[in-house]
Amino acid sequence: MNEKILLVEDEITLAKALKFSLEKEGFNVEVAFDGEEALKSVDREEPDLVILDLMLPKIDGYEVCRSIRRDSEVPIIMLTARDEDIDKILGLELGADDYMTKPFNTRELVARIKAILRRTVHQPALEKNSIKVGDLQIDLIKHKVTVKDREVFLTSKEYALLSFLASNSGRVYSRDQLLEEIWGEKHSGDARTVDVHVRHLREKIEEFPADPGLILTVWGTGYKFREG
Ligand code: CA
Repeated sequence: MNEKILLVEDEITLAKALKFSLEKEGFNVEVAFDGEEALKSVDREEPDLVILDLMLPKIDGYEVCRSIRRDSEVPIIMLTARDEDIDKILGLELGADDYMTKPFNTRELVARIKAILRRTVHQPALEKNSIKVGDLQIDLIKHKVTVKDREVFLTSKEYALLSFLASNSGRVYSRDQLLEEIWGEKHSGDARTVDVHVRHLREKIEEFPADPGLILTVWGTGYKFREG
């Protein structure tokens, strides 16, 4: 973990309490008490996520958000009062990623932070060079798959299916989605094509193909790759 969070909040008691809670969760927390400081801090610290109070001295949260968005995609969670215009906050004009209405539950805020960071920091799937889960290793550059350091030979479709599922571990895909993703939109084959490939893959990569631990069946839906 140790992602860096910039907390922009002028209420010192709240800022301190939040900093404490977030640090307990393993985050690195910088605090800025006004909008001016916030913008400097974004430039200097390059945080992984910004928690931004809307009502701030000097430059308000709206303006800070707009300024950040001019040259950064950093995720922003807005802290708002009850009657703020949520459409505006989440819309194109400001482009915040999420918001919380004060007073809020800190655990809920932490949950949302983690959800956003999972999407942005932990899932640079396309930039990763390799995936390792248990005894399985997928070299995404060389398209090489090994189990317990022994190379496993896959067909190109098997490789495509495996690397796709593993790059998106934990996400459930229907057979139709996988057909479209791996075989292309124009593919007119039936969903059993996916089942057959999954069966072959399991025989090659699973320790117990009949009781798979990597490519999991989600009954009534499709498949997913084990998380973590
Ligand atoms: Ca405030």
